[in-house]
Amino acid sequence: MTYQDARTPGLQDGILHHLTYTIGKDAAHATLHDWRLALSFAVRDRIVDSWFASTRASYEAGAKRVYYLSMEFLIGRLLGDALVNLRLDGEAKAAVEGLGLDFDAVLHDEPDAALGNGGLGRLAACFLESLSTLACPAMGYGIRYEHGLFRQSFDNGRQVEAPETWLQQRHVWEFERPEAAYSIGFGGHVAEQDGRMVWTPAEAVLAEAYDTPVVGWEARWTNTLRLWAARAIDPLDLARFNHGDHVGAAVPEMLARAISRVLYPDDTTEAGKELRLKQEYFFTAASLHDILRRFDSEHGDIRLLPEKVAIQLNDTHPAIAGPELVRLLHDTRGLPFDEAVDIARRTLNYTNHTLLPEALEKWPVPLMARLLPRHMMLIERIDADHAARFPARATHAVADGEVNMGALSFIMANRVNGVSALHTGLMKQTVFADLHALHPGRIVNQTNGVTPRRWLHACNPRLAGIITGTIGEGWIGDLERLAELEPHLGDAGLQQAIAGAKRANKADLADWIGATHGLSVDPDAMFDVQIKRIHEYKRQHLNILEAVALWQAIRANPDAGWTPRIKIFAGKAAPGYVFAKKIIRLVNDVAAVLNADPVTSRYLKVIFLPNYNVTLAERLIPAADLSEQISTAGKEASGTGNMKFALNGALTVGTLDGANVEIRDHVGAENFFLFGMTAEEVVARRAVEGHAGQAIAADPRLAAALAAIHDGAVSPGDPTRYHDITGNLRGPDYFLVCSDFADYWRAQREVDAAYRDAAHWTRMAALNTARSGWFSSDRTIRGYMAEIWGAASLGPRA
Ligand SMILES: *Cc1c(COP(=O)(O)O)cnc(C)c1O
Repeated sequence: MTYQDARTPGLQDGILHHLTYTIGKDAAHATLHDWRLALSFAVRDRIVDSWFASTRASYEAGAKRVYYLSMEFLIGRLLGDALVNLRLDGEAKAAVEGLGLDFDAVLHDEPDAALGNGGLGRLAACFLESLSTLACPAMGYGIRYEHGLFRQSFDNGRQVEAPETWLQQRHVWEFERPEAAYSIGFGGHVAEQDGRMVWTPAEAVLAEAYDTPVVGWEARWTNTLRLWAARAIDPLDLARFNHGDHVGAAVPEMLARAISRVLYPDDTTEAGKELRLKQEYFFTAASLHDILRRFDSEHGDIRLLPEKVAIQLNDTHPAIAGPELVRLLHDTRGLPFDEAVDIARRTLNYTNHTLLPEALEKWPVPLMARLLPRHMMLIERIDADHAARFPARATHAVADGEVNMGALSFIMANRVNGVSALHTGLMKQTVFADLHALHPGRIVNQTNGVTPRRWLHACNPRLAGIITGTIGEGWIGDLERLAELEPHLGDAGLQQAIAGAKRANKADLADWIGATHGLSVDPDAMFDVQIKRIHEYKRQHLNILEAVALWQAIRANPDAGWTPRIKIFAGKAAPGYVFAKKIIRLVNDVAAVLNADPVTSRYLKVIFLPNYNVTLAERLIPAADLSEQISTAGKEASGTGNMKFALNGALTVGTLDGANVEIRDHVGAENFFLFGMTAEEVVARRAVEGHAGQAIAADPRLAAALAAIHDGAVSPGDPTRYHDITGNLRGPDYFLVCSDFADYWRAQREVDAAYRDAAHWTRMAALNTARSGWFSSDRTIRGYMAEIWGAASLGPRA
């Protein structure tokens, strides 16, 4: 396949053309920013043909379409990814350098689109890319937030949040679609007219579509990400304006725009805000209108909907899709209620992402009834009908004055899936035990995955080049072929090349840390990395407690042959999550003390890199030796960071939680540093009165590390600063940091010993890469297509 024919000018011509005619700049006066925009437009031109071809092929085949509804899409930068998937990266580098520019600087000019909080949003982004790579006719639907996840910086170690402003620059990848706009109502009343219920909203806003093409590997197929922006239906209250109230006249527009203004910066607790519920209904309703409009244009009979459309709800945020679809089918199109429910239920599917009770979404009935009065009536009727069919059971979607969005999603779904084998099993035993008993077979597992294009081929060109040089490039589109590496791993030259690539990635990162954060880092030290949202269940405090204990041990015996390591942290805490923010401050304080210690800093340094996002992940993961996946067992639904690390040849120190279990099964127990209690043991341990105190009494190292933090060793002048943390760990310690500490310490010392045997370490790391092919999101999407959606690939190479 070639990507350039007689009609397509060379990329350099395209860049110069767009610089002149789209940006309106002369090459002599163009800034880096102008050049980046010009390159992006030139690259975008190359996507459009594949995009149109995919759209045509979908219509012609009359194929089943997949719609992925997600509140979050953590897409990151798009230019480098597009270049790689179009196989234009080499030509682009040459073209840009031919113009006298630094290619990396041009790529790094792009803002990181952070329309998500963490794993859930990044999963949605990986899925879109795999859907295109697999030529599955699909569309992602979400919200075009003006401000994505906040920008994080530190002030004396404390997290400071500032608004993210990615849209202040021209967003080159999107196409505005003014013709695809829908009016979305809120509030008002419901009345019966001619035997039908009619909802008359009190207010309405306009949902406007913005489309971003998502190009798959080798431009085989291109799907669309459609994001909705909220606008006022009447942009200006002219009467108010003419009466001299110039500011007041703009209020309706401001109120409407508020709906797509900001991403809620919290992925674990519900904001409980009316605006959040408005956001959810806004994008779900706009997407369903759009889906039905497209369905109507292709097919006549609405009863075919479940055969032609599969809708995936990414968590419960779009759960209002159930009642909204019933409303459209029953109230608007006049289908009998039972049939409307049946069609909706066979069309919708739901992915559960968490078992944490505080993160299971619930809305007060009065709020739902006020904002969405017709939906509240429908939810009650759906729930009552379900309860009537299964009178022996006590599961209700409406209970204790709240709507339980998880139960509603379950009742209205054809399939409900968990995101790792362990998580799916726990779902059946805990949150959905009751509903699972009523509907056996509805719950299925689809273990998460990551796209190998971004998370190996693009972010780690050194390792990718070695792999391609050894087994050819087939692995990029078929990651399980990484297994072909294994027979070659005995080759000394290959081992040396793999070790050399890691060393070079580490040297790059060390240079960058030195230049941007002023910390000197030895590239030969072990790079020990924990990067993810800051949350008690993820246990960054277990990691930093181990750092303090190690610091004390080195101080006590500096010449004991310690393995040098640098502990690298990154991650954002929800602005209202006080304890998580305290953990960030603790890490920063520990870093300040340890890095300044002339004796121990030769062996141990700590750094917390600010503003974790996709771009920073792409920088850190290829340079990591050790991947910290240390959540309390039973709490991390899957994790995807864990997969990115293993794929890039980092060894995991981790608990038997989420997908860690499957990673260990694949890479081999001997290539994984396991520690800690199992999910079952966690439950039993938590029931032991005084578990934390017992663990501390049994482990002098833990006791001394806690005492140092408690007594102000890392907060001189403010000794009580961390009493909330030490008090929690010595008291309730719900996440069992103390009970897992001793085994974590043991595992870490095994890591130290293993790292000292460089050849063996390299072999273990290479085996992690060679055996991680199963963790491609292509595999995950194939599973959804076959077991959830019943969708087929339309690709030439399907
Ligand atoms: C992969 C990724 C995550 C998810 O990380 P976990 O370790 O699975 O929680 C979060 N944020 C970003 C930016 C990522 O790239």
